[in-house]
Amino acid sequence: MTAVRSFADLHTHSAASFDSLADAARMIERAAALGLTHLAITDHERIDGAQRAAALAPAGVSVIVGEEIRSRDGDVIGLFLEQAIPPGLSAAETAAAIREQGGLAGLPHPFDSFRSSGGAKASGRRMQPDELARLFDYVEVHNARAYRDANPRAAAFARDHALPGVASSDAHSVMEVGIAVTVLPGPFSTAAELRELLPAATIVAGRASYYVRLWTPLAKLAQRLRGDRRIVAATIPPRDTETP
Ligand SMILES: [Zn+2]
Repeated sequence: MTAVRSFADLHTHSAASFDSLADAARMIERAAALGLTHLAITDHERIDGAQRAAALAPAGVSVIVGEEIRSRDGDVIGLFLEQAIPPGLSAAETAAAIREQGGLAGLPHPFDSFRSSGGAKASGRRMQPDELARLFDYVEVHNARAYRDANPRAAAFARDHALPGVASSDAHSVMEVGIAVTVLPGPFSTAAELRELLPAATIVAGRASYYVRLWTPLAKLAQRLRGDRRIVAATIPPRDTETP
């Protein structure tokens, strides 16, 4: 019997995000062309775009409805969500809200000093790394947009806390989809099945080129002109710096 494997990009942004113009249908096409079996669409602070995309997805590519949530302690990824989770909660409250829906909680780009993220904060003032690690099902040990030593530090964090690691593109454009992929040793269609496979995940780690990353500021500008502003809660601290 041939072993069935899954190929997943677990962190991408469609045009429903304030900083992406990527058309979800084209993202799914790209995922299919690359041979991905799962594409998580994790827009900032909303899941409506991902839900629409999930309804459209052709056989062969499963769209996972996710969200990248700005918690007070940094960004958190929720996968397999049914309702959007508001920004501005603590990381613990955010993870609890994800679990309440039966979802998976992931820690994205934890040490990327250019972006608000849990690990960078944990190494600073708010949360102890141990306390942070207990909240999550997995850590993004490779984010294709991360800078400098952020990925090796994330990998060390995952190893030290015995958390599974994943690789994600963090795509903000169609051409970035699948640049980094998590390979799982079996099929899955639920959060529980993915959680079970994660400890045996392997990663295919690529890197977004500088040219590709230039698209994000352009996309933000275009979204602003369309009046499609980011959903923000009054209590959220501003980003440390703009996402490059
Ligand atoms: Zn992201």
